[in-house]
Amino acid sequence: MQPPDVNAAEKKQIEAKGFSDFLDRCDETEIMWIRRKKDGGCFFLTEKNLCAIYDVRPSICRLEPFTIKDYDYLKNRVELELDFPFVCGCEGVNDGETLPVEVIGKAAQMIVRKILVLTAKDLRLPVTDKRVASETRARILRRGIDMANLSV
Ligand code: SF4
Repeated sequence: MQPPDVNAAEKKQIEAKGFSDFLDRCDETEIMWIRRKKDGGCFFLTEKNLCAIYDVRPSICRLEPFTIKDYDYLKNRVELELDFPFVCGCEGVNDGETLPVEVIGKAAQMIVRKILVLTAKDLRLPVTDKRVASETRARILRRGIDMANLSV
């Protein structure tokens, strides 16, 4: 699994834990990705298969085992779906606790926000433009279809 991306707020929280030099160089999308270790795993995955930054792990890791299925931007509602267990490749995403629904909801909102920002950039429109919200939803739906095709 590709180690997750982080936004500026998440990067700051991880740095506050004393970590540095944990990002790959930005690609053309300017997304900040956590780098891989030599064995290919996420920089923060410990030898015991735990996450070294569990309490400040990025939103995509917090969302596991859910994925975003739909984004109703008119009602500002994000629809989630439970993943098959094999979708997640990182042992560190869950230490057995059941996350409160607010934490999962916040993670989902943060991910949608990231997709909105990237879409606004691609379309060269302000993030508040309705066309950005509509294309963001289309991207989420397309990804859902891609995932469904992969699992048949
Ligand atoms: S949960 Fe896994 S993928 Fe996410 S930061 Fe931690 S070790 Fe990396």
